[in-house]
Amino acid sequence: MDQNRIIDNRDEIEEMLKASELTDYDDIDELDDRFDEAAKTAERILVGDISEWVGQFYRQRYRAWQEGDRQAAPCRCENPRCALKRGELPYRLRRRTSTVREGTQSGRQVLSEYLDSHPEAVVIDDALQEQEEIASDLGREFRKLHRELEAAIMELTDDPEQQAAF
Ligand SMILES: [Zn+2]
Repeated sequence: MDQNRIIDNRDEIEEMLKASELTDYDDIDELDDRFDEAAKTAERILVGDISEWVGQFYRQRYRAWQEGDRQAAPCRCENPRCALKRGELPYRLRRRTSTVREGTQSGRQVLSEYLDSHPEAVVIDDALQEQEEIASDLGREFRKLHRELEAAIMELTDDPEQQAAF
């Protein structure tokens, strides 16, 4: 799924929630909590500065490798001074982007471009795949939220006691 589409969907739900905020309705409250959770993840993985997430992913993998829990080194290259094998995220991936809001592709782009120049970096390849999986889970959750929210609002508008709020 197009990752920009996921963000559009998020924005739509946010609008719907805002519009329904007038009513104290448990169903909406619950959907609101779930939305907050998903929106937080979207911020970390799709919209915000992805470098923090990549750093976490990398450190976890590096530690597992150091402790012998993982066979595969973070990078398969021959260079003994490769940052990835010394427990450091390469500068290009550490750098915080000031153009964070540029679009949802920018985080992935930084990773793919790094991989183009250093294709042995399995840990970065894995990070890209993980990001994609989290993104599609998010897409599913947003679609579900959208449907459930629509149903809850429909129910509300059918309830004469709530009519006044609309
Ligand atoms: Zn390397």
